[in-house]
Amino acid sequence: MMKKIAALIMISIMLSACNVAEPVEKETQIEENESNIELQENEEVEEVLVEPEPLDPKDKIDLSLQPNETGKIMVLMYHNVGQEEKEWVRTPDNLKKDLLNLYEKGYRPISLSDYVSGNIITPAGYTPIVLTFDDGNKNNFEYLEDGTLDKDSALGILLDFNKQYPDFNATASFFLNGDIPFGQSGQEAKKLNFLLENGMDVGNHTRTHANFKNISKEDLQKEIGGQAQHLEEFINDPSYKIDTIALPFGSRPKDENLTTFLRQGNYDGTEYSNIAILNVGWNPGFSPYDTRFDFESIPRIRASEMKVDNVGMYNYIDYFDNNPGERFISDGFPEIITLPEDKLELVRQDLVKEIYLYKNDITEEVSN
Ligand SMILES: [Zn+2]
Repeated sequence: MMKKIAALIMISIMLSACNVAEPVEKETQIEENESNIELQENEEVEEVLVEPEPLDPKDKIDLSLQPNETGKIMVLMYHNVGQEEKEWVRTPDNLKKDLLNLYEKGYRPISLSDYVSGNIITPAGYTPIVLTFDDGNKNNFEYLEDGTLDKDSALGILLDFNKQYPDFNATASFFLNGDIPFGQSGQEAKKLNFLLENGMDVGNHTRTHANFKNISKEDLQKEIGGQAQHLEEFINDPSYKIDTIALPFGSRPKDENLTTFLRQGNYDGTEYSNIAILNVGWNPGFSPYDTRFDFESIPRIRASEMKVDNVGMYNYIDYFDNNPGERFISDGFPEIITLPEDKLELVRQDLVKEIYLYKNDITEEVSN
């Protein structure tokens, strides 16, 4: 009914390593395979020759979904989950309501590391979000006396929601400070490993929930490196590194010479390195493909309805409803970046991914 025959422009300057997409002339394919003939049994060669050419993933990208992988991505910030709604407390019912709203509005969680590395695995037509919980309060992850997980804890609610809506990846990052993450002594290792085994991530929120504003170089590295070491000691998987941090109070050193130690440093003979540094407020994050994306300063949005000054989660859900062109819409293929051609100027030039531009006639018709 609508003219969806879009003009497709391929930009081949940045081809991905996994570029199986390029159509291969049959003759070329045979020639390439000739070198293999000597090395392989005849029957195997024949199998290679009859193998169908791989489909170009771009042929499968549904442009009617108006993918825009330069759009914005919300990183949502939670703290407590408790029975009384407060500025930094969400009730279990409200957390469930949030998840349902996000689900129905087409948002799907991805991990923080996938966000910062640009590995957007979100299905086509959906918008990635990142869920975060700060402070490691017991109400985020509690084992009851009978050993079961508290269903009204943040983790209990996330896992339950995922059971009900399996296409809503219930992945989240928990930013932990202090000695006893989640406040139940003796359960630290069990909890941290359970999180990792269930698709969650654990991040740094410093040793003492420190304010970095006037901190010394030594203390800054102790706060970050010391906590990374402390948390990693509980974790079975030696390859898992605590490499993301949520800044307590969103605070940064006044002395700009120290900001490098937010990213990396050394404490007690061990190096630490962060791939994501999270602020406290107040905006949606840039696409990881956007020139303005900065892994050292990722904004977050408060997932609350109390004292959010019109910049809370529901404000932005409304905003993206009214401004769909601002929202990241996945093309469903992590190795390809799809966007309307008028957004090309936003895209970073250092990406090793294929860029797929389209001209959207529908948008032009609507605006006339
Ligand atoms: Zn905090």
